[in-house]
Amino acid sequence: MAEIVNTLPFFYGNVTREEAESYLKQAGMGTGLYLLRQSRNYLGGFALSVSHSGRCYHYTIERQPNEMFAIAGGKSHRSPMDVIDYHSQEMDGLVCLLKKPCNRPKNMQPKVGPFEDLKEKLIREYVKQTWNLQGAALEQAIISQRPQLEKLISTTAHETMPWFHGPIAREDSEPRLQNGHRTNGKFLIRQRDQSGSYALCLLHEGLVMHYRIDRDQTGKLSIPDGKKFDTLWQLVEHYSYKPDGLLRVLTEPCPRPDGDTVLIGRLPLSRDLPGFGSAIQSVADGFFSRIRNAQSLLPGKKRRGSQRSNADNLNPYETRLGNEAAMPMDTEVYESPYADPDELRSSTVDRSHLMLEDGELGSGNFGTVIKGIYKMRKTEKQVAVKILKNDDNNASVREEMLREADVMQQLDNPYIVRMIGICEAENLMLVMELAELGPLHKFLQKNRQTSLKNITELVHQVSMGMKYLEEHNFVHRDLAARNVLLVTQHYAKISDFGLSKAVAEDQNYYKAKGHGKWPVKWYAPECINYFRFSSKSDVWSFGVLMWETFSYGQKPYKGMKGNDVMQMIEGGQRMDAPANCPPEMYELMRTCWTYKADERPGFSVVEPRLREYYYDIAQ
Ligand code: ATP
Repeated sequence: MAEIVNTLPFFYGNVTREEAESYLKQAGMGTGLYLLRQSRNYLGGFALSVSHSGRCYHYTIERQPNEMFAIAGGKSHRSPMDVIDYHSQEMDGLVCLLKKPCNRPKNMQPKVGPFEDLKEKLIREYVKQTWNLQGAALEQAIISQRPQLEKLISTTAHETMPWFHGPIAREDSEPRLQNGHRTNGKFLIRQRDQSGSYALCLLHEGLVMHYRIDRDQTGKLSIPDGKKFDTLWQLVEHYSYKPDGLLRVLTEPCPRPDGDTVLIGRLPLSRDLPGFGSAIQSVADGFFSRIRNAQSLLPGKKRRGSQRSNADNLNPYETRLGNEAAMPMDTEVYESPYADPDELRSSTVDRSHLMLEDGELGSGNFGTVIKGIYKMRKTEKQVAVKILKNDDNNASVREEMLREADVMQQLDNPYIVRMIGICEAENLMLVMELAELGPLHKFLQKNRQTSLKNITELVHQVSMGMKYLEEHNFVHRDLAARNVLLVTQHYAKISDFGLSKAVAEDQNYYKAKGHGKWPVKWYAPECINYFRFSSKSDVWSFGVLMWETFSYGQKPYKGMKGNDVMQMIEGGQRMDAPANCPPEMYELMRTCWTYKADERPGFSVVEPRLREYYYDIAQ
């Protein structure tokens, strides 16, 4: 949403209420003149400032948990723009109708809050430290999990702030403020108890004032009878430009005894993170490791590099993380097992290091897939083992399986099932990463309550994996929901490279020798008509995969024969939108089904479009 809103000429970004009033005044204060700005107290929320009869009125547009927007107590809308459209027709509680946008002065960009800058750095540092990631793996983690990471950072970043002194007693806070400069407005925040309440300690004329900061049932923070905030840093930002009931504004953060501070804009930021020097690195390390520890205590979480210490130091934010879903990086299969330099990369797996378990994960043309354990040098990994049927142990099937293994071996991406190695023993076996929740379409058929946000997250991950394939000149040729496997409900991987081909860079398509046993309903017209396969034809299949996913695993072109489907496509018709499919997503499917391959977008276009939509609904 933020990206779309940023392009509105009447959106001012992170400006204060007073600044908004001064812009409205400069523009003449006509009745119904309005502007939009970022909420300074609610995450992801906005504020609407309107002038009427020589006065300014301000309304908070809250982002609701169902991803809708509304002025408190009012009707819900899909976006802040829709709220504005609605109130230009209906007053519905507003002081007047919204008549005229008050556009930003020429050359003025929406104002970026001081936290935005810090947030980027914190996210990067957090991902780096928590999961030991770097390079492409780090970038992919940030792209695929940005909304979750932003939320995490926004609600915990105060721990890196020099004014946050943690759970110290009232008596201990006073000498800290009285020490050194005794500037009026010098302040710190201390944690009062484990229920999430704090105290703001403020130096005023040589005396220390203590204001309680309570947390209400919805988790919002406020000084008694004061404004409510989602985060401590928003509260500090507010009271540092306005006393609003305090004896004075906050001026100078009182440094922790172990730290040093700098002032960037209004917000005092610690110098520990890249770009901020290194004086209180230990404080940042403490922050990140406490989050790590809290998360490593959660069932099913496998944060690498986490040491379990400090466990009783968990603060309420950290335990809150227990409700949050595991991220792909929390699992064993985010990075290749060979990313660890101590593990020797080898394309063959020694049978004595492979233990097969009872029970099938599934079966296919080649044979069965079962669960196993692979003993590596340092660790043991759960794996999926594709076992070639013995009766099929003839040269051509064997060759086909080895070709699949050869393709998989060249690929290394978090959103693609990796091959660990080939094992030649009682049967030919392909040892792969395990994606235990199985095929996407079956999962959705069984889990109809899966949210649209969750579905979009998974589809976006598939587009990330496909973008990687496109960049590396591979065509998949069998992209379908049945060939996307889930590691967790929030982590998808592309599998089944049986039909995949590497294509020459200068040719960028693969020409099949003839018609085979093809998944025609997933194939673009040029595949059927000219046997021509490229990343663009994978994009067509991706459109069908999107349709399957947003329809919770239904069969595409239900009840139709392959020939009828081809006629339908040639006649210019396409499948209807699945029930309750967001219009943006159906539009993207239709774009994937552009008849001519040349006019069809590649994954380099499809992935960012999905990303934008996903960030919008997940914020
Ligand atoms: P086909 O060619 O008919 O599509 P196949 O012989 O290539 O089948 P797969 O589709 O690769 O076999 O696998 C069959 C089933 O085994 C999958 O649908 C899935 O349920 C399970 N499976 C395959 N690979 C894995 C894996 N890495 N982790 C967990 N389950 C898997």
